[in-house]
Formats: sequence, C-alpha cells, structure tokens
Amino acid sequence: MEDTEFEKRKKMADRLKEELNLSDRVYNAMLKVPRHLFVPYNYRDSAYLDTPLPIGKGQTISAPHMVAIMCELLDLREGHKVLEIGTGRGYHSAIVAEIVGKSGKVITIERVPELAEHAKQTLSSLGYDNVVVIVGDGSKGYEAEAPYDRIYATASAPKIPEPLIDQLKKGGKLVIPVGNYMQELIVVEKNDEIKTKVWGAVRFVPLFGEYGF
Ligand code: SAM
Repeated sequence: MEDTEFEKRKKMADRLKEELNLSDRVYNAMLKVPRHLFVPYNYRDSAYLDTPLPIGKGQTISAPHMVAIMCELLDLREGHKVLEIGTGRGYHSAIVAEIVGKSGKVITIERVPELAEHAKQTLSSLGYDNVVVIVGDGSKGYEAEAPYDRIYATASAPKIPEPLIDQLKKGGKLVIPVGNYMQELIVVEKNDEIKTKVWGAVRFVPLFGEYGF
C-alpha cells in the first residue's frame, strides 16, 4: 500500500533529524508542514524527497535539508520577528512560522508576483496568519517592518546587502548565501560589532534587485 503524505513526511523528517541532529523545534515543524501543498500539482509525488523542485517562473523550492539547516543556523525562537527574502511558494515561511508561533511574525518578500500569490493562498488556506507576503525587491530588506530578530535569504547575493545588516536588531542573526558560481552560506551576528562565519558551500538561485545581481 502507498504511504500516506504524513507517513512520507515523517520518514523525511526522521531521516533529517538523524543526519543533521535537528532540534525538536525544527523537527516538529518539518513534521507538520505539508510540503506537497507547496509544490506544483505534478510534483506532489516527489514532495518528500530531499531535493529542490521546480515551482514555475524558473525558480525552485529549496531542498528540505537546506531549509532545516538554515532554521538551525538562525536559532529561531518563539516570538521572533523574521524577514525572509525569496518567498517562492511559501514552504520555508511556513516552517519558520511554526517555530516562531503565534506570538512571532514572518514577513516574506518575493519579486515574482505569481509566486507570491501562490504562497499567499497556500499559507492562508493552512491558517498561517502570522505570515505576511510582500511583493518587492527583498535585496533592500523591508524597512517598513524593521528591525528584525532574524533575517534570511533563499537566493544568493553578490555580497551581503548593507540594508539587511541595518535592519537587524542588536543580538540578531542573518543567514544568506553569497556568491555566483561558487556560493557560501554566511552567518552574520550583529552585536556591538558584526561577526561573520562561513557555514559551507551551497547552491541557490541568484538574488536579483538593487543589492543583487
Ligand atoms: N523560500 C523558498 C522555499 O520555501 O522553498 C525558496 C525560494 S527560491 C530558492 C528563491 C526565491 O527568491 C525565488 O522565488 C526568487 O524569485 C526570489 N528572489 C530572487 N531575488 C529576489 C529579490 N530581490 N527579492 C525578492 N525575492 C527574490
């Protein structure tokens, strides 16, 4: 008999927990969010494979392991206000919304209106009313809701955009892929000084816009 969507999702989350030593917060979110509803209908059978998938407009939904790793690097907590740059169809926003809870908020910004619209519809049909989807150029951040506890980008920038650091709270963290052909995932911590660490090599679509390519 074919596995139900929940059983497939549990297998995926269990495997990621073991491979990445996931925290309970991130594991529970991966277990809960129905990734198959965030991919185009013809890719639903592949939704619980640990791989990026096309979502239209030349863009992709990130691989589950990368979503989980970024959530761990951000050290997300209940109540955090988070800015995501690159909504796609909204899967990663939903995972973060689960972790920050109803006392937290996710502001996510996407430059392709059709993708933002898909994300809005799916997130609202699943009851994620702590997520706000904005259409615009996220390479500049989103000043109207700043400052943020956490910021992350799901598209790779030529260098770390200054406005993102400006829009972080003191004690805040930013996770962003940087580079063109050779990309690295960078973790920035903002205190009295700015500390940056390289997590490792990654592969993301390019960040376009004023501070992008
Ligand atoms: N967060 C998505 C998920 O849940 O799988 C992944 C989205 S995809 C890897 C990256 C997205 O960044 C694309 O949808 C792309 O259109 C978007 N993007 C690229 N440059 C952007 C910019 N300057 N502002 C906002 N979105 C941008």
